[in-house]
Amino acid sequence: MSISKIKVKLDNESYPIYVGSNLLENSGNIINSLGKFSSYIVICDRKISKLHLKKLLSYLNKSEKRIVTIVIPHSEKTKSFHYLEYLMEKILSKKIDRNALIIAFGGGVLGDLVGLVSSLVLRGLPFVQIPTTLLAQVDSSVGGKTGINSKYGKNLIGTFKQPLAVLSSIDILKTLDKREINSGYAEIIKYALIKDKKFFDWLLVNGKYVLKISLDKCSYAIKKSCQIKSKIVSKDEKEKGIRAILNLGHTFGHAIESINQYSRKINHGEAILIGINYALKFSKFINISDIDYSDLYQKHLKSLKLKYNLRDYKIKIAKEVMLKHMYFDKKVLDGEIRLILLNNVGRAVIYTLKHKKKMQLFLNKELQ
Ligand code: NAD
Repeated sequence: MSISKIKVKLDNESYPIYVGSNLLENSGNIINSLGKFSSYIVICDRKISKLHLKKLLSYLNKSEKRIVTIVIPHSEKTKSFHYLEYLMEKILSKKIDRNALIIAFGGGVLGDLVGLVSSLVLRGLPFVQIPTTLLAQVDSSVGGKTGINSKYGKNLIGTFKQPLAVLSSIDILKTLDKREINSGYAEIIKYALIKDKKFFDWLLVNGKYVLKISLDKCSYAIKKSCQIKSKIVSKDEKEKGIRAILNLGHTFGHAIESINQYSRKINHGEAILIGINYALKFSKFINISDIDYSDLYQKHLKSLKLKYNLRDYKIKIAKEVMLKHMYFDKKVLDGEIRLILLNNVGRAVIYTLKHKKKMQLFLNKELQ
């Protein structure tokens, strides 16, 4: 399979996303071509370290650069001040210089944390993303959002820091467990819903192959998702407007994750699958859409055996608690939530919720 290259066009910092199979074999050459680096700092989590680190290092070693590896636990809980400090002190203890390159090798959790580290340590070091989950390949590795969680909510502390490049190797997804593949599908279907009806129709037919990580179908879905995201990010890098539509389902989803204290009970993508369902229902509830698109969405998820209800996870949330957490969202401005809703499949809108009451009524109905 050939390597595809998608460009994220930005004013100062455009960069390529490489998508292909067995891309780790090319990682040494690709990374070498990005600049003159004094050393590589490879950061990954324990699972990735056991499964794939040796292979990556064997290709990076060819450059004969000094390589430092740092391994941290695998958990959403590492998106914390504790691990931010741990990583920065660890990097500094290795006496690296400003020409060092940081390589984030892992899923979205690791990429978000390491991105933040690379924007802070020595006032910023260049970094490359080698995403290893479906979710990270279609979403978190692209667009430059970095972050950790706060006790007040998800991703509330962070920066924008674009990577020098993203290297998405599809074969690496073969070791992912089912739950994590399903989680990545949440963001894929999100892109189709907000921007591309044709892609949505394609997913209705091919979604099952994407979930099986069939090389050509999965590669298509990753490329399509990256193209949609990069176009939106190119227009609005710092989320002053249109970029917000990438958050379809996220105000609900982040609240669900935060209420469950980022535990393994429900992961990010699973919470987003439920959040999208609420967003589609709410779109109809307040007549932003003529049709209740949650019917179509649920039918598709059912055919793929994906869950879209809190009760599937045996999670019960009181409506007041849900509402409180939704108001911690980053998209709240002047005390008003900005929700991403759907006009039609392929057409998302940013909706400012002026009256809390509407959401209260909706949650009364949905969270009985
Ligand atoms: P994750 O990073 O927690 O990875 C999930 C699990 O899979 C972990 O246990 C990890 O060790 C394991 N894993 C990773 N790659 C593997 C592989 N190839 N084989 C076997 N196991 C593997 O979860 P995620 O879904 O990748 O990322 C979720 C995070 O991404 C959330 O914190 C979310 O907020 C963030 N996110 C960020 C953005 C952004 O724009 N920055 C966008 C979407 C999501």
